[in-house]
Amino acid sequence: MGAPARAIPHASSRAAVLDVIRAAGTISRVGLIQATGFTGATISTVVRKLIEDGLVLETGRAESTGGKPRVLLQLNQSSRYAVGVHLDHSGIAYVLTDLGGSVIARMTRAGAGTEEPPAVVQRMAAEVATLIEGVGVDEGRVLGIGLVSPGPLTPAAGMGPAPPIMRHWEDFPLDEEVRRATGLPVVLGNDATAAALGEYWSGAVSGSSTFAAVYVCTGIGAGILINGIPYHGTSGNAGEIGHVCLAPGGPECWCGARGCTEVMAGPAAVVGLRSESER
Ligand SMILES: [Zn+2]
Repeated sequence: MGAPARAIPHASSRAAVLDVIRAAGTISRVGLIQATGFTGATISTVVRKLIEDGLVLETGRAESTGGKPRVLLQLNQSSRYAVGVHLDHSGIAYVLTDLGGSVIARMTRAGAGTEEPPAVVQRMAAEVATLIEGVGVDEGRVLGIGLVSPGPLTPAAGMGPAPPIMRHWEDFPLDEEVRRATGLPVVLGNDATAAALGEYWSGAVSGSSTFAAVYVCTGIGAGILINGIPYHGTSGNAGEIGHVCLAPGGPECWCGARGCTEVMAGPAAVVGLRSESER
């Protein structure tokens, strides 16, 4: 709360207004006009619709600066929810968040491992249902699933060149299959990019809207944001730093090259070094 409104381009004036209210915590209609540059008429119409839809609440009045005190608006946090899923071969993490992005429930289950993708998707659908039921949230208030996995991702669907343990996921239409199994809209992304967006969205990256967040999970990746927008590059995988060579004669990596960042500095390498030094 209290993070400054940010100039993120939005699909609609409705999305832009909603995001400014979210980032501001509480804000008046006049504040919205100043923050978005929209006209008073647009703000009035958009806010009325947001209140009608239950997404925004009027919450008291600001202290008067002479004129009529201004009505303050805030997100109706519990009006909508979203599911976040992080799929990895070593674990699948689930969260349920409210409209403000606060985590309401969290659970971790067995990873994809060597299971066949259709079986994992069926299990994920059941686990998402368990998560939602556990909180007692009306399913109609759940907007959809944000699904991330280690990159690289192909732009169409599925994962691109994957580590050997997840190679059978290559070209599997993951988002489409999860959508079918859960009945919820699915947005598929790269976990490192999602982590970078989360840092940005939550205001953890103060004042800077161009940055990279290095993400270490099973492998190493990075999410890059330029002016608040994820940068994927022409390959779609600009942040895939895990296979940049650090040592030409280094140990062999699963990708076939030697001395990759991942094989030199990934969690497996760090754990290996540690157990070596304890010996
Ligand atoms: Zn490699």
